[in-house]
Amino acid sequence: MTIDSSKTYKFATLAVHAGSPHDPTTGAVIPAISLSTTFAQSGAAVPVGEYEYSRSANPNRDGFEKAIAALEGGKHGLAFSSGSAATALILQSLAQGSHAISIGDVYGGTHRYFSRVAVTHGVETTFTNSIKDELESLIRPETSLVWIESPSNPTLSVTDIAHVANIIKQANLSRADKPIFLVVDNTFLSPYVQNPLAHGADIVVHSVTKYINGHSDVVMGVAVTSSDELHDRLRFLQNAVGAVPSPFDSWLAHRGCKTLHLRAKTASNNAQRVAEALVVSDKVIAVNYPGLKTHPNYDVVQRQHRDSLGGGMVSFRVKGGAEAANKFCQSTKVFVLAESLGGIESLCEVPAAMTHAGISKEQRELSGVYDDLVRLSVGIEDEEDIVQDVLQALEQI
Ligand SMILES: *Cc1c(COP(=O)(O)O)cnc(C)c1O
Repeated sequence: MTIDSSKTYKFATLAVHAGSPHDPTTGAVIPAISLSTTFAQSGAAVPVGEYEYSRSANPNRDGFEKAIAALEGGKHGLAFSSGSAATALILQSLAQGSHAISIGDVYGGTHRYFSRVAVTHGVETTFTNSIKDELESLIRPETSLVWIESPSNPTLSVTDIAHVANIIKQANLSRADKPIFLVVDNTFLSPYVQNPLAHGADIVVHSVTKYINGHSDVVMGVAVTSSDELHDRLRFLQNAVGAVPSPFDSWLAHRGCKTLHLRAKTASNNAQRVAEALVVSDKVIAVNYPGLKTHPNYDVVQRQHRDSLGGGMVSFRVKGGAEAANKFCQSTKVFVLAESLGGIESLCEVPAAMTHAGISKEQRELSGVYDDLVRLSVGIEDEEDIVQDVLQALEQI
């Protein structure tokens, strides 16, 4: 009737049932949306149930947090009003004067927070384009956080999480009083394809807006950790800062995550088909996709991704420059030209002109974001239709 928390269930069972017990009073199989902002008390400071005030905790957010913690194999989940709020909160938890190290091609909003907000409260960040080789030499006495995203956006380069975690573990041997912690932004793959905590990360974050909610109708974020200490710090700030999701959004995102395994598997299979079709097209210069055996980090993909799945994101360079990239995106019929990713519908965009337009051309090209690069978020439509759509759009350029 209710899943047994002492038993280890597989992903699909957890996706459907974790954090989602039937209602003990009505028997409702799906939780009600609990809109009340406040909860009755039977005496001063003696709440009737588990809740007092909805910013601090509410039943829908709780259920969602439990579900994502279970799917990431972590102990604690914390939900936020956006992925950016989750990022901001983690950086805000660092002491003044702290140092952070981040991969260079991190999500634009995260880069902006590091370089334009965190600095204003004394947190300095070093960006590196080869974290694997440079991390050890970049660590300083005041370093307290390492931030990675794998695969990266939009060039889909893969970072070996266990390798980075091991360097940090070694460094922490001599700094037990002030350990460095590792954060992995797992938005691009979702918990179905990759579980960073299992590879040594301390915190995993997601923009729930993408795969976890998966229906392009909620903006939300989540962080998961197994450390009680990090959890206490973040839980305190979650309430103090108040960047929390509404009960309705929590309920929608929880409903979305119940089909995550089906969506992530289908998107990944569709993206694999698209990537394979792009590789053999004479209109294409290069294809970035972690599911291709020719991907430079395919050995890491095999260790790090479930069933070596490549995920739903593909990027590729077309012949004919910016104009051809734009023409491709205007010629698709199934793919919608739009920013964002991870929804049921296929999307395409030109990063240099859209999501990455704020970065100088020189900086962009250093991480492989050329004007002719197209990024696809492959959805869960029919695989033949998707491949045909890509092929017919290539014919138009
Ligand atoms: C979208 C995104 C974010 C930010 O999340 P929001 O929900 O838009 O605030 C962070 N990281 C990655 C990788 C993203 O794609």
